[in-house]
Amino acid sequence: MRRVMLIACGGTIAGRADEVGRFRPMGRAAELLAGVALPAGIEVSATDALTVPSRAMSLADVLQLVERVEALAAGAQPPDGVVISQGTDTLEETAYLFALMCGARLPVVLTGAMRPNVVAGSDGPANLAAAIAVAAQAEAAALGPLLVFGDEIHAARWVTKVHTSRPAAFASPGAGPVGVVGEGRVRLWGTPASTILGRPRELSHRVELLTMASGDDGRLAEAAGRYADGLVIAGMGGGHVPPAAAKVLGTLARRMPVVLASRCAAGPVLTSTYRGAGAESDLIAQGLLPVGNLQPLKARLRLIVGLGLGLAPAAIFPVD
Ligand code: ASP
Repeated sequence: MRRVMLIACGGTIAGRADEVGRFRPMGRAAELLAGVALPAGIEVSATDALTVPSRAMSLADVLQLVERVEALAAGAQPPDGVVISQGTDTLEETAYLFALMCGARLPVVLTGAMRPNVVAGSDGPANLAAAIAVAAQAEAAALGPLLVFGDEIHAARWVTKVHTSRPAAFASPGAGPVGVVGEGRVRLWGTPASTILGRPRELSHRVELLTMASGDDGRLAEAAGRYADGLVIAGMGGGHVPPAAAKVLGTLARRMPVVLASRCAAGPVLTSTYRGAGAESDLIAQGLLPVGNLQPLKARLRLIVGLGLGLAPAAIFPVD
């Protein structure tokens, strides 16, 4: 018998309708399990951590979850795997924070739902059953934290929410899923990739994420630079910004980490293709740190965790 622990944190998967028919999380972990046909040979225990929409989850909440999972793994009777259910809006951020910080060597699987259990075609029970099946697989641990949704298994390193309302809401642009679940069977083909940095005592650094748009003159970056500990810039295309913004970012990069990502859905930030004010090579020469293939949301979390650990920015980026 494999033992899986479900930690519920709210979200649509725990959603109930209020008097005017709008959903909010109210269901508890044990109720979520009630609707699930558990795969054979797996025993699940359930506990509640939070009952909130994921937009209300703070970085400190996620840090506490990581601590909780590490404590479970180090305890006298560790489960074989852990499933975390939460709202989908920030599911990818929780998943990536686990990838950066969680040292527990057991499968950690995140899931949620796009349609609450009380509406037709709800996806929560199927997602939960699939997540439990994956968490029960010892081999899944090697792939790092995983996000299971719509029978696909995605690595936390790559996964992102790509649709606001459909059940097929998650994808890993540029990489694809690392496995699938079908007929209760888990198939994994991804290669292990370690993205762990370590677990700081707190996640208190203030890092702002700014998306560059046509005509940006750097004023917003200048304002953020007055109080932030670091910036992540989601640049255009291969990592480009308007010339006026480039000047501001270059000045800021002399006194704080300014990280260069791309606002494109997939592909690496370039390093040596274009020349001229605001081109990637100009920005890098001015001290901006290119992220490689990492999405801006994840780059922000990586910088917060890295700074929390006291790492030099150049040791935090780039990644693969
Ligand atoms: N607003 C919800 C949340 O993130 C959406 C969901 O769970 O799908 O909590």
